[in-house]
Amino acid sequence: MDKVNILGIQFDNKTFNQFQNEFIKKINNHESTFVVTANPEIVMAANEDPEYMEILQNDADYITADGIGIVKAAKMLNQPLPERVTGYDLFTWLMQLANERELRVYLIGAKPNVIHAVQEEIARNYSNIQLVGAQDGYFKEDLNTIAKKIERTSPDLVFAALGFPKQEKLISILRKDLTPALMMGVGGSFDVFSG
Ligand code: UDP
Repeated sequence: MDKVNILGIQFDNKTFNQFQNEFIKKINNHESTFVVTANPEIVMAANEDPEYMEILQNDADYITADGIGIVKAAKMLNQPLPERVTGYDLFTWLMQLANERELRVYLIGAKPNVIHAVQEEIARNYSNIQLVGAQDGYFKEDLNTIAKKIERTSPDLVFAALGFPKQEKLISILRKDLTPALMMGVGGSFDVFSG
């Protein structure tokens, strides 16, 4: 089975390594790709917010099981998923890939001091990344305006750390515009990454 349905969310039945291989292909082809790393809170929220559910069902290209709670639920439904695939693990791997390949990265989210610390960490340990945008997540503009701003920088990778559902709502706009980047909501990952 390719997908495992948990409360309306179609999880991809893939290992971390299989996701890596698919994402590398998408990045090589400059395909617009929307990745959601869904934890139990996200599944519950989508069941209470039709707009969010619509985004996860119709706009997302991949949904990973972010947390052991999802893996356990899948097992209980007799449709096991191979392993958990967290947003943070995918984020750090993609940042390493971006560094190796000198990719264009746009970061949006977290508090101003956190995004500043993330920029410092990139300068220290990921200095080949072309950081085309780094902005905090407490902006006044609407999501459409922010999406246009991101598109103008022609990123290869977009990471939105705005918490759910805001991060997925922003990426769904970019995905509908066919922005040729791999895009992922990463929750609190910038806070962790910045140390
Ligand atoms: N955040 C943001 N803008 C907002 C709300 C939250 O940038 O309007 C950031 C917050 O600073 C944190 C990240 O979103 O870095 C994740 O927040 P939270 O832990 O609440 O979300 P979750 O990880 O549970 O999705």
